[in-house]
Amino acid sequence: MSIHSHPVPGTRFLRGPLLHCLAEPDKNTDATEYFNDALLHIKDGYIVACGDYQSLKQSYDDHQLAYLEHHPDKLMIPGFIDCHVHYPQTEMIAAHGTQLLDWLNTYTFPVEAQFADIEKSRDVAEVFLQELLRNGTTTALVFCTVHSESVEGFFQVAQARKLRMIAGKVLMDRHAPPEVLDTAETGYQQSQQLINKWHGVDRLQYAVTPRFAPTSSSEQLRLAGQLLADNPGVYLHTHLSENYDEIAWVKELFPAADSYLDVYDQAGLLGRRSVFAHGIHLCDDQCQRLADTDSAIAHCPTSNLFIGSGLFPLKKLQKHGINIGMGTDVGGGTSFSMLQTLSEAYKIQQLQQVNLSPEQAFYMATLGGAKALDLNDKIGNFAPGKEADFLLIDLHATPLLKFRNQFCKDWREALFVLQTLADDRVVAETNILGCPQG
Ligand SMILES: [Zn+2]
Repeated sequence: MSIHSHPVPGTRFLRGPLLHCLAEPDKNTDATEYFNDALLHIKDGYIVACGDYQSLKQSYDDHQLAYLEHHPDKLMIPGFIDCHVHYPQTEMIAAHGTQLLDWLNTYTFPVEAQFADIEKSRDVAEVFLQELLRNGTTTALVFCTVHSESVEGFFQVAQARKLRMIAGKVLMDRHAPPEVLDTAETGYQQSQQLINKWHGVDRLQYAVTPRFAPTSSSEQLRLAGQLLADNPGVYLHTHLSENYDEIAWVKELFPAADSYLDVYDQAGLLGRRSVFAHGIHLCDDQCQRLADTDSAIAHCPTSNLFIGSGLFPLKKLQKHGINIGMGTDVGGGTSFSMLQTLSEAYKIQQLQQVNLSPEQAFYMATLGGAKALDLNDKIGNFAPGKEADFLLIDLHATPLLKFRNQFCKDWREALFVLQTLADDRVVAETNILGCPQG
């Protein structure tokens, strides 16, 4: 039945299996809610109600439910949340043979230099956002490049698609080729102009985005802190403690700082809306400081493996109570698929004799990611009042999935099979504010 068949515009009733998180799984045994047969009611882009079909249908009359979309073979889940990704690096995904610092000089900076051109920025943003949606990712925290045009192009395309996206201009005033550098002062001014123009417009929000400590002077980091102080609600997005050579370089460049994190801390960059990608090699003091300031870490497993950065100590960060979301980190990462990302996250824990449960992994890719981005009041699950960004998943999308799924005892096993074997092929429908995307 077509969604256009409901006589009230903006209204949809969907029926079928549904899975979402109500809280973090390890802290609450009822944290993940599964319905074999659910009813989902959407109006004007928001969730009105979600529950067991037989119980919830009593709330509606037969006329309303005559327009039900019944998907007994599809699983409804919230849209995935990618907490760290670089849209300009879409064209350099799968670049061979280097670790972080060489990888930046060899591949990243030459590609990013092209984004002074707004046409180029719009074209790549189109490809990037289409790829996110095909993979079921509905919100992302996104690096642009040092050029204001790269942010303009990205936000224009995201706005046209009504997407909830956070992005910002890279701040980088040293240790890179001149075509990808700003200065402390121009970086500050251009960021403020972009904040004035885009932050809070429709579903778009701005992130102050120093690339990482080695490519920003102390003055630039100080001004980044000033931007945060002057613009409450704006995000901070950067990299932290990814690779040993990088950490040694930070120590050399900032001899007065106690640690890598302390460089950011001294500039006033920690807080509820601060998201640090990676955080692989952190001591207990740095973990505690992240937790105390309610800062978040974006875990990027395919990138950590591909660039050879290290094994993410998930348990240690969880013990400190740090907010953790998942990131694909394309182009350092190798897949736009959050399912493939979770598959690699599981293997990284296996190498450390830790079992990552499918519920915990699913949480980090949905409600946990929303919490890491301080958006858990708006997205991340099917709670009434939230924005209706959600997916229909075809558990039988490939012959192997179809065969394997018939042996699954329960939804937990099916969820683990999904995150281990699936990719974009299972995403049958991505909905933004209740509307299927083409
Ligand atoms: Zn990155």
